[in-house]
Amino acid sequence: MKLNTLTAHELIEKLGRNEIISSGIVRSLEERIKEVDSKVRAYVRKGAQGCQVTSHKDGELKGVPITIKDNICTEGFNTECCSKILDGFKPPYDATVISKLKSAGAAVFSLKANMDEFAFGSSTENSFFGTACNPWCLECVPGGSSGGSAAAVAADEAIWALGSDTGGSIRQPASFCGVVGLKPTYGRVSRYGLIAFASSLDQIGPLTKDVRDAALLTNIISGHDVKDSTSVDMQVPDFTKSLEKDIKGLKIAIPKEYFVEGMDPEVKSTIEEAIEKLKTLGAEEKQVFLPNTRYAVPVYYIIATAEASSNLARFDGVQYGFRAESGKSGTEGSLIDMYKRSRGEGFGQEAKRRIILGTFVLSHGYYDAYYLRAQKVRTLIKRDFDEVFKDCDCIVTPTSPTPAFRIGEKLDDPLRMYLSDIYTISANLAGIPAISVPCGFTKKGLPVGLQILAKPFDEEMLFRVANAYEQATEWHKVKPKL
Ligand code: GLN
Repeated sequence: MKLNTLTAHELIEKLGRNEIISSGIVRSLEERIKEVDSKVRAYVRKGAQGCQVTSHKDGELKGVPITIKDNICTEGFNTECCSKILDGFKPPYDATVISKLKSAGAAVFSLKANMDEFAFGSSTENSFFGTACNPWCLECVPGGSSGGSAAAVAADEAIWALGSDTGGSIRQPASFCGVVGLKPTYGRVSRYGLIAFASSLDQIGPLTKDVRDAALLTNIISGHDVKDSTSVDMQVPDFTKSLEKDIKGLKIAIPKEYFVEGMDPEVKSTIEEAIEKLKTLGAEEKQVFLPNTRYAVPVYYIIATAEASSNLARFDGVQYGFRAESGKSGTEGSLIDMYKRSRGEGFGQEAKRRIILGTFVLSHGYYDAYYLRAQKVRTLIKRDFDEVFKDCDCIVTPTSPTPAFRIGEKLDDPLRMYLSDIYTISANLAGIPAISVPCGFTKKGLPVGLQILAKPFDEEMLFRVANAYEQATEWHKVKPKL
């Protein structure tokens, strides 16, 4: 049994019995990366940084390695959001999630996971380092923006990984790559040290090989943090306890709006089978309506771009990373010129598109018509969920309307690309937690993901339902042939 193929909880057991050592796991991952990553491209800057780890081994994780998305600050290790504008940026501090992982005894990998630039995208094609590929079909995208994290876990190049989710960026790639991905409730996990995309939507979360690992990792990264005023001061339960409960008598809501045109027929039938499976495990199905969901994509692309345009204003060629040649000291040109050139050369096309759109919706004369109105509709979307959760325990939907699509297929059509998040975005707008678990394959062998959503701070419900489903199926055990 190769160590890189095991889950974190299996490795922790072996480490506890002194059957293996942490450096052995790191070595097996290095070998796997050498073997397959020239094809998968889940990791970036491989030549430059080598594969180092930092850890305190004596915590509960006992030195199990973890892979981190390139937008989460790791002290001393490059963190560039896969953007040219952050070229060479080595944060002088760790994100709170990284400090927590280190004190729990994780070995944090210096090699970072590929992603869409600044997490803008659904395919990882917007990475400055080039697209990552889907381990199940190398001509297909791994999803995005945490495509590198998902692909690394799926290809056994990582034991588990952290990603970030603003509109689906953990769940959609988890679904495309056949792994488990959780977006926690907004405020559950500290965002300190996560390079901001849209601050009112972003959350860090786990990408793992099974539900137990997702629960374990959520235990470690959750909790109040004085450095993030939006993190919530409430007790974090032991999420692994939820794995012991069955789902008999739970009321599962199926939103009518989610099973409409545009959905791939194979995805539809796979999800319907998964719902049947949940029913055989004792859950009750209830049809519900989330009428304002149809506004989720436009509302998201107003709010997310508005916040992104403001967050990205700090990248000006002065404080971090890249500065355009002509803007370096001793060369001609004004300060404004230097900003313009650095931003013009440093940001990719999608980042520029979003900065322009976000600046537009926030500009005088348009703010009320777009931004303010979008915030009002956001409240309506949230209320739809409140209504459903009055008498249902969770909601079940597909994670994505299609399986992984081909590289290049949607690149020239940003609107079609934006629609790949149609099922994931409303959880971010409403701030509620949601998980994606593998639930089958298409005829071509591409994974399909089942999304489960719950009330704010009820991650326990997600782990309970996801685990019951996983225990009753074998999908999570199937591995891609690379
Ligand atoms: N795909 C969505 C977007 O492009 C969501 C990205 C994310 O969650 N970071 O904005």
